[in-house]
Amino acid sequence: MSPPRTAPAGDLPGNEPRCGHYVRIEGVTKTFGDVTAVDDVSLGIHRGEIFCLLGSSGCGKTTLLRILAGFETATGGRVLIDGDDMTGIPPYERPVNIMFQSYALFPHMTVEKNVAFGLRQDRIAARETSRRVRDMLGLVRLGPLARRRPHQLSGGQRQRVALARALVKQPKLLLLDEPLAALDRKLREEMQFELITIQKEVGVTFVVVTHDQEEAMTLSDRIGVMDAGKIVQTGTPSAIYESPGTRFVAGFVGSVNLFEGRVVAQDAGHLIIECEGAGCPLYSDRGVRAAHGDRVWVAVRPEKLQISRDAPSREYNRIESMITEVAYRGNLTMYRLRAASGAELRVSRPNLARANADRQDMGERVYVSWHPSSSVVLTS
Ligand code: ATP
Repeated sequence: MSPPRTAPAGDLPGNEPRCGHYVRIEGVTKTFGDVTAVDDVSLGIHRGEIFCLLGSSGCGKTTLLRILAGFETATGGRVLIDGDDMTGIPPYERPVNIMFQSYALFPHMTVEKNVAFGLRQDRIAARETSRRVRDMLGLVRLGPLARRRPHQLSGGQRQRVALARALVKQPKLLLLDEPLAALDRKLREEMQFELITIQKEVGVTFVVVTHDQEEAMTLSDRIGVMDAGKIVQTGTPSAIYESPGTRFVAGFVGSVNLFEGRVVAQDAGHLIIECEGAGCPLYSDRGVRAAHGDRVWVAVRPEKLQISRDAPSREYNRIESMITEVAYRGNLTMYRLRAASGAELRVSRPNLARANADRQDMGERVYVSWHPSSSVVLTS
């Protein structure tokens, strides 16, 4: 028997190559008294990518961003930008700009003066300043509003002024702290796409801090998931979502069904897992290297589960359950179910047709099943 397919597709910490990264964070730690806000983080960020630091409140993402900006001094480790060691370099001498969540615009200055402010401080010639400000306002589509003051703008327009002001100095690296948090949901979705378009146009490397996993998924070329001061997984949005490395990542990025069990057999590329909570053997063709008898968790996303009234022919990955809740959300319907073992399941189904003749209702007894390739096996 050959071993099952192993390592998840997302890069795991510690696997970063040592070279070829535009921004290199090497063993960075930051403590405040007895709090370790950032705990021995090593990370490489490529030139021109949008990299999101994603994590819940207090996990250390803002502290890491502030270390990149030079507003905090690391207790240990170092940061290199484009090959230059930033240790001891003050914020204003770093090739870095930061866009704050509040935007921090000057209320008494017009849009164009706000954008020109940094260039004037750097004593860039007047003609060059007005050319760069004009170009930048054109890029963020604010040319016609150049003479307005911030209070005469919408939230989305203010966000674009802040972005123009941060980009006009042509930083090598732009740091964005929860850049869209002040906007309402619909505008935030629009601005996510706009931010991507502008970033691709200027080619500046973006590091974005967010606690919003949907925002990170939409914006990022790659995501670094943080927990308790550590980067627990880095990878593309699809690698993080489809191949989470741990139960924490699986549960933090999206919704997931987890079944705890023990490996009872392996065949070419598959694991068979005995699982009391599921009430049937689980069969998975993806996951980590696990040996006979190992304790593992099988993770399956709600949209990868099927619901049927009739029993599927296969005898694995098939859980008899009762529907306990149905939530209609327009584009999809969310189901909560309880298995005979008491385990709770979540299933989502897209509403592909206006009238769904095959709709299941609360209280119905059904089978929940999934294909072996839809699950991931985790050991931690
Ligand atoms: P949020 O999303 O809520 O802003 P975060 O992930 O950005 O959270 P940080 O602001 O980096 O988290 O904080 C990480 C930890 O370090 C927290 O426990 C916080 O209380 C602590 N911390 C941050 N700054 C300081 C400080 N100046 N003094 C003491 N503790 C601090």
